[in-house]
Amino acid sequence: MPEAGSLLALLADGETPVEPAVLVVAAHPDDEVIGLGAQLARFRDITLLHATDGAPRDGHDVAMHGFADAASYAAARRRELVAALALAGITADRALTCDIPDQQATLRLAELTREVAARISVLRPAALITHAYEGGHPDHDATAFAVHAALRLADGPQPALLEMAGYHAGPQGMETGCFLPVAEDMAICLAIPPKARARKQRMIACFATQQRVLAEFPIDVEMLRPAPRYDFTRPPHPGRLHYENYPWGMTGEVFRGMAAKASQALGLGR
Ligand SMILES: [Zn+2]
Repeated sequence: MPEAGSLLALLADGETPVEPAVLVVAAHPDDEVIGLGAQLARFRDITLLHATDGAPRDGHDVAMHGFADAASYAAARRRELVAALALAGITADRALTCDIPDQQATLRLAELTREVAARISVLRPAALITHAYEGGHPDHDATAFAVHAALRLADGPQPALLEMAGYHAGPQGMETGCFLPVAEDMAICLAIPPKARARKQRMIACFATQQRVLAEFPIDVEMLRPAPRYDFTRPPHPGRLHYENYPWGMTGEVFRGMAAKASQALGLGR
């Protein structure tokens, strides 16, 4: 089993293929391309697990993108994902989903944790890559919670746990492509060679419904780091969280309460 640091060193080494089995656990179809799209083609044994289907049930996104219902929007997001992954040589059978409705992962933290734990016990990845806990999107934080909690439930050797940069609130609005600071931060910034950058651009173009959102993210670098230990019952940073700016019915306070409740249901402490 590689340590997180040695996997990071391998990833930092240009275009070297990565042989150990890797499980990427992401909230939405497209988060893996935002966070590590330029690296995806380097993994020789990769599985992706998405917590949600990418289709919020409030009807807003469904209508905005011209779909009849959430099911057809979710199916479109799946097609976009499969097309993007194909460009990295990843087949559709390697893209698993928990199929939770978009924006509802926080409501199902214990269930999501158990599903992630079950996948880990079957796949036995050498490394996991997931979201940072950063208050950017409640599904991202829920996914991070589920991965961290699933590893605490797991028996046997622990996989290395890395996290990819997403987005969070900053002093000047949303910050993308970087992490909130933590103690002993070992983040590495991967420069993306031109060929990989061009492929990442083609992958991004596959997500036709997400172009407006994806335009906000840098494509010249990707940042990864060993995941710190989080206390999900505390805010990721002081002040207003990024997702609290949206009318999604989720606040940091509610999230933290749900995290505490799920930890209890799973028999974990904090
Ligand atoms: Zn996302």
